[in-house]
Amino acid sequence: MTEKDLGLVLRRYNFRETSIIVSLYTQRFGKIRGILKGFYTSKREFSSSLDLFSLNEFIFYPKKSEIWLISYADLFLDYPFMRENLAKAKTAGIFIQLIDKIMQLWDSNPYIFDLVINCLSALEKQREQKILCIFIIKLLTYSGFKPEFNHCIACKCLLDDKMFFSASKGGLLCHRCHREAKDTQRISRQASHSILYIQREDFPLVYRLNLSLKCETEIIDILKSFIAYHFELNNLMLTVQNSP
Ligand SMILES: [Zn+2]
Repeated sequence: MTEKDLGLVLRRYNFRETSIIVSLYTQRFGKIRGILKGFYTSKREFSSSLDLFSLNEFIFYPKKSEIWLISYADLFLDYPFMRENLAKAKTAGIFIQLIDKIMQLWDSNPYIFDLVINCLSALEKQREQKILCIFIIKLLTYSGFKPEFNHCIACKCLLDDKMFFSASKGGLLCHRCHREAKDTQRISRQASHSILYIQREDFPLVYRLNLSLKCETEIIDILKSFIAYHFELNNLMLTVQNSP
């Protein structure tokens, strides 16, 4: 049976002379892989050029094997501002790499689909680093990997101003418990409050958060150590420059 769904292009590569293989994040099926046979020759079925992070409507045949046959692709939405702005394109590139790494095939999650569409649009007007902080914190929350920022993960006490983050433990430790863990880093109250705010608030309220550049950098640093530890993504460059 065929299905029709919207999907964001995460990865694409040529296959033989005329076909391409893609990884998509779809609205109803989660991450899927598919082949578009005759992509470069059948202009009627494939009117989209399937650029990275473009949103397209697809018709495909779900089956048990990993690669599904995709028989139709039509461009629904793309983000022309990314072609002129390297910082924004680079940030969007981090979004799709993280989704591709963290999400399993066929694990449908409409919250993550909405999150990435929402954050790609927000990139046009807002600072890249801030949107990157919001995207990663929400992605970890919606995918079930949320680090604990509410209380000390070892003794459950409420935290005072002296708190530490441990990537391996997956959250904050108080000034007593941090000596037990090997990989702790000090974190400011402002950064931990901002992360908690982003974890709790919904869109579009979450965009109202005011983050200083220093705080953004601190949050990115914390998230980077968490992602490197739990997803073996050491080479992911999370550092983005805000465009002028
Ligand atoms: Zn403690």
